[in-house]
Amino acid sequence: MQALLDDILEQVRPLLGQGKLADYIPALAEVPAERLGIAVCGVDGSLYTAGDASEAFSIQSISKVFSLVQAIQYSGEDIWQRLGHEPSGQPFNSLVQLEFERGRPRNPFINAGALVICDINQSRFAAPALSMRDFVRRLAGNAQLVADAKVAESEYQHRARNAAAAYLMQSFGNFHNEVEAVLRSYFHHCALAMSCVDLARACGFLANQGRCPQSGEAILTPRQTQQVNAIMATSGLYDEAGNFAYRVGLPGKSGVGGGIVAVVPGRFSVCVWSPELNAAGNSLAGLRALELLSERIGWSVFAPL
Ligand code: GLN
Repeated sequence: MQALLDDILEQVRPLLGQGKLADYIPALAEVPAERLGIAVCGVDGSLYTAGDASEAFSIQSISKVFSLVQAIQYSGEDIWQRLGHEPSGQPFNSLVQLEFERGRPRNPFINAGALVICDINQSRFAAPALSMRDFVRRLAGNAQLVADAKVAESEYQHRARNAAAAYLMQSFGNFHNEVEAVLRSYFHHCALAMSCVDLARACGFLANQGRCPQSGEAILTPRQTQQVNAIMATSGLYDEAGNFAYRVGLPGKSGVGGGIVAVVPGRFSVCVWSPELNAAGNSLAGLRALELLSERIGWSVFAPL
């Protein structure tokens, strides 16, 4: 595995310089572009890393996995009264379907869906941003994890599109808390700074039938874990979910900070990071690295066991 990861990074390195940083959040445009890291966390707790795997970056939409899991833990199947689990085929920040579908987002991984999930969690927790941070600290086994306040503030200052989605949902009665407070929680989640190692560890339970490989703690039931993986596989990369299934064939979740996590059920979780994005807002080199990984291990969820 070590040799494989080293080799994959070597092969994708020439792609650095060909993508574009997410500059619609000004604080993210200041990130050093030429970074590349990967970490693999086995279901036996083993860890393999290559490149800049220990450098923290903004997890952005990868946080949507953790907020969804928190919502499932506390509200179970009830959450599906508020949103769907269908792929949207639209960019992550699109508003078009939201009006046609009367304020009900297609899935929890587009921004509108993640905002509804944050609204659900806002009703549940006294301090949603802190309970999320502590949850992720526990999953990653890293008590030092914090949100980058500068990134969170930058997102809040440039919140127009997310605010539009939330207020539109409120107009349809699908938003129960004060919009600005929920936006603050959402941006705080997105601004969590984690490394590939942190994220691979934090997603280990998704490869391990819901149990955290390090601590043994049950985070979700095996059935719920399978369902979260299914939503990642169908919606984790927005309007590029089909391409991701075709090229990688694993449940995955990307963020505009350039991270992508993917899950090989029963074997390992992996996180790759390279900040430059393609046109769909997904890490250009990260996507290629995961494609090589699934090709080289000869396995995807669409291949025989
Ligand atoms: N915080 C970002 C936003 O709301 C997250 C988007 C993403 O990572 N795709 O626009």
